[in-house]
Amino acid sequence: MANPAGIFDLAVIGGGINGCGIARDAVGRGLKVLLAEQNDLASGTSSASTKLIHGGLRYLEHYEFRLVREALIEREVLLNAAPHIIWPLRFILPHHKGLRPRWFIRIGLFLYDNLGGRKLLPGTRSLDLRHDAAGAPLKPGFTHAFEYSDCWVEDARLVALNARDAAERGADIHVRTRCTSARRVGDLWELRFEDAAGRVTEAKARALVNAAGPWVSSFLGGAVGMNAPDKIRTVKGSHIVVEKLFDHDRAYIFQNADGRICFAIPYEQDFTLIGTTDADYQGEPGKVAISEEETDYLLAAANEYFQAAVTRANIRWTYAGIRPLYDDGASKAQDATRDYVLKLDQKSGEAPLLSVFGGKITTYRRLAEAALEKLQPFFPAMTAPWTAQATLPGGDFPVNAFAAQVGALAQKYPFLELKEARRLVRAYGTRAEQILGNARNLVDLGRRFGPSLTEAEVNYLIEQEWARSAEDIAWRRSKLGLHMTASDIDALQTYMAGRNGASATAAALTGR
Ligand SMILES: Cc1cc2nc3c(=O)[nH]c(=O)nc-3n(C[C@H](O)[C@H](O)[C@H](O)COP(=O)(O)OP(=O)(O)OC[C@H]3O[C@@H](n4cnc5c(N)ncnc54)[C@H](O)[C@@H]3O)c2cc1C
Repeated sequence: MANPAGIFDLAVIGGGINGCGIARDAVGRGLKVLLAEQNDLASGTSSASTKLIHGGLRYLEHYEFRLVREALIEREVLLNAAPHIIWPLRFILPHHKGLRPRWFIRIGLFLYDNLGGRKLLPGTRSLDLRHDAAGAPLKPGFTHAFEYSDCWVEDARLVALNARDAAERGADIHVRTRCTSARRVGDLWELRFEDAAGRVTEAKARALVNAAGPWVSSFLGGAVGMNAPDKIRTVKGSHIVVEKLFDHDRAYIFQNADGRICFAIPYEQDFTLIGTTDADYQGEPGKVAISEEETDYLLAAANEYFQAAVTRANIRWTYAGIRPLYDDGASKAQDATRDYVLKLDQKSGEAPLLSVFGGKITTYRRLAEAALEKLQPFFPAMTAPWTAQATLPGGDFPVNAFAAQVGALAQKYPFLELKEARRLVRAYGTRAEQILGNARNLVDLGRRFGPSLTEAEVNYLIEQEWARSAEDIAWRRSKLGLHMTASDIDALQTYMAGRNGASATAAALTGR
């Protein structure tokens, strides 16, 4: 927790999208920032989303116009900032006679197309499923659909890139570091942290941001020692990943008989992602997992629409997360607001505490701006908002130049298969070259862990993106775990344990 001035302006608790987004924005405005994440970056909700940068078509039914408009505008802002890990995706909404009427959907999509400035993404169109390729995998009863635009995001990478950018601008980022106590002493916060090895460190900060996601209330009640903190509604959502159900590159949005919607999205070349569910959850957030009931629900939703039977035997992976929603008293989990709420706690002369409730991956950048607006009075010298025009690491190329980036990388490193060049540009954008360096053949990239992960990439992720375990790389910084065997993962874990042990010793010896 070294800090030359001894005191941080802002300490951010939580390395999910909201914590990393706030840390990045704040350091770019001239604040001295510390961020502590108890586990891995994005190990909470921010790696368990449906991975859509979307306005949220169904939130229109809940009259959440502010949220939908802000999110629709954000789609293109984020697409420009990170055209490697975010890309446009078309959604097919098959019409289902028994559910929402066609005119109602048409009005919703008209609003969706026009509420938030849309320059790059194409608008809605009607499809005849009897003649369009999107109809082929569906049951014959579906003859008409609407097709509209949203975007896909590699959620956990978005978090890592925000942390990377924050660090490059001077933020102090610590993973596997839990904040165990936060006490106000006059106009400062005195903070205590414990790392994975049980080492305790301390730091001071002028302001504290509680971006602990599903732990936001327990952090207030525990580490901060607050009586009766604001509550969140913890709503679980699960996904299944099945063997590929269709060959085209568009996604489906299905209406379920219970009024909910469910997505089926092309995933990691060989798979289809199906989700999600909505169920109140009272357990420990870190232990969340899909239930048998949720699996049945998602399979039933898919089988309602797809011709080919989707069964448990097709499931290759599952994941679940907790939406840390602000408790607005809605009776059904699916009706609770998806908008964010920022609560500032401060009495005259005391150090401020800002807690983040709710929010979407899509709106994280706007949430960060709103958070800093609330903290502005405590930091009058803070400079103006800046993130709307800035790219994230590796995203410094035009949105329509992705294929050109892949071509250039493949030309510079002719030993790479085209699909590998594509994967590296998707993950790292212009920074893929930092991994490949002066390599002239595959051997130069070191040993292999599974079909495509190389030692050079692992080293980059350890050094630049705070990866500490095989899980961090196989299931968060990438989804290569889907293509790796158990022994590949074991070998990766052993290699990383050796590397991390070695760097911990080096750090201890040099006093860094
Ligand atoms: C099923 C599902 C699907 C979703 N789909 C979408 C979608 O498609 N699009 C979209 O825009 N949004 C989506 N969302 C919403 C979005 O994922 C969340 O709003 C967002 O990830 C919340 O981020 P966060 O940073 O607030 O929380 P988190 O990502 O949970 O981060 C909080 C972090 O704080 C850390 N922490 C907690 N306590 C401490 C402590 N004491 N010390 C240090 N660290 C601590 C945790 O380990 C955690 O990593 C979805 C959510 C779910 C659950």
